Amino acid sequence: MNAQVTDVIVVGAGGAGLTLATELALAGVPTVVLDRLPGRNLQSRAGAIQPRTAEMLALRGLLDDALGRSIDYRLAGGHFAGLPVPLDYAAWDTRYPHPVLLPQDQLEAVLEDRLTELGGRVLREHLLTGLHQDAEGVTVTVSAPDGERSVRGRHLVACDGAHSTVRKTIGAAFPGRAATVRMATADLVLTGAVDDSTAGHISSRIQTSPEGHFAMIIPLANGLQKLIFSGPRTALAERDAPVTTEEVREVLHATHGGTLDVSEIRYASRFSDASRQLEQYRHGRVLFAGDSAHIHSPAGGQGLNLGVQDAFNLGWKLAAVLRGDIGEDLLDTYQTERHPVAARVLALTRAQGVVMGPQRDDGVGELRDVLTDLLRLPEANRYMAGVMAGLDLRMPSPDAADHPLLGLRMPDLDLVAADGGRFRFSDLTRTGGGVLLDLTGAPLAAAAPWADRVARVRAGAESGAVGAEAVLVRPDGYVCWAGGAGLTETLTRWFGPADRPGEAG
Ligand SMILES: Cc1cc2nc3c(=O)[nH]c(=O)nc-3n(C[C@H](O)[C@H](O)[C@H](O)COP(=O)(O)OP(=O)(O)OC[C@H]3O[C@@H](n4cnc5c(N)ncnc54)[C@H](O)[C@@H]3O)c2cc1C
Repeated sequence: MNAQVTDVIVVGAGGAGLTLATELALAGVPTVVLDRLPGRNLQSRAGAIQPRTAEMLALRGLLDDALGRSIDYRLAGGHFAGLPVPLDYAAWDTRYPHPVLLPQDQLEAVLEDRLTELGGRVLREHLLTGLHQDAEGVTVTVSAPDGERSVRGRHLVACDGAHSTVRKTIGAAFPGRAATVRMATADLVLTGAVDDSTAGHISSRIQTSPEGHFAMIIPLANGLQKLIFSGPRTALAERDAPVTTEEVREVLHATHGGTLDVSEIRYASRFSDASRQLEQYRHGRVLFAGDSAHIHSPAGGQGLNLGVQDAFNLGWKLAAVLRGDIGEDLLDTYQTERHPVAARVLALTRAQGVVMGPQRDDGVGELRDVLTDLLRLPEANRYMAGVMAGLDLRMPSPDAADHPLLGLRMPDLDLVAADGGRFRFSDLTRTGGGVLLDLTGAPLAAAAPWADRVARVRAGAESGAVGAEAVLVRPDGYVCWAGGAGLTETLTRWFGPADRPGEAG
């Protein structure tokens, strides 16, 4: 059997896999995307994207499409553990200071549309069944509608979700904590007094019962509602057991006193609060992104955001390595930058699990009161808002002490060019390259040899101060140089030497 040959094999076309595939397509890297399902999964699942994910979509010109598909309902701020204090994301100087209610299937549609525009496509009903890697590449066996086939790539990225076949096949340990709570979610049609108000804090949507039922109802489009729930019956159900109408009715009755009923369950699935993370995101030529690398409870709405941001971090690096711009060591920064971010989310979701857990006579109620009071303090609220929104991330940088901007996200400034033209910083990042933004008119000729990888733009900031005369911003929107010495070294570190290895000088 002759193998189809490509540069990158992406396994899984969820949020992580589709983001990675679009980034690679943008960079012109030959990629094969495999997914076992016959079509996109139409269940809403994740209900919102956080501000940093919204900013990253804006960097590629994808946010307008996403906003057009979002639900016309505004959560009044984010939340920590469902506590009744809105998190004030506006304190982080972002254009998107609230979660965007974008059902996961709609985000996937935005990404797949872009992938198609860029000439890529997902091979559906392509189930990865085997994998072998050697020093030069990875060969996979795939079960497809026309029989078994094999695909060979220089790298493989596993975006195949929580129960990752790739992870199991290569025998990577997935240490962490087993499930303590089992829950379910369903997109359904409800009858009765459904609250369809268009704004509110998420805490007002959570109902519990003394018998341990939990229900949260979030509006979707087309008359559907998303119910996230648990209860004594759900807690004992097997992962693959179908969600039944009786089970949903019991929860609705216990939490809403019979004012609501279900007339149709369109899609449903079960999940848990199991919390696990790979120690290494790279195993030779195999890399992991999204739920294949980390799982945790959905408390606080972080999982899809983590996966999309993993992919934004990895995509440009993998493309640069495959183009021959830079050595494979660049891929090590994927681990150092993204592993701690997911580790923090795992810790925070476990903490939220305790705070949101059943109120027993063990101090949890008092802990909830203490945390509620703390979140009313502006500084504490700002801290937690930055964490939950993903806006406080700082990429580790050897020079971080040199300038307060290093490693932080570049704000989406309003800029004005010398000819008076107005644009946003995010208009400069559509093509997926780096940007050297010169805000003072000082000559930055030193960067000229990188012109094929880094756009040089001279503009003034219309509003907001950057705190630097010039900034070098990576393709994923993080500042890696902020004026002063060391521009050539920084360009070389992130974009490779001016003359590509192997190129004549
Ligand atoms: C109720 C609920 C609410 C949530 N809310 C939020 C939220 O508000 N915000 C948030 O950020 N996250 C949320 N999450 C988490 C989010 O749904 C996941 O983190 C996200 O789906 C992970 O994306 P992924 O691309 O890594 O994996 P997945 O979306 O699981 O995609 C994996 C893909 O791989 C394919 N695949 C699997 N095995 C194979 C194989 N062997 N061969 C080929 N293809 C394969 C699958 O078909 C699938 O398409 C929520 C989750 C739940 C359950």
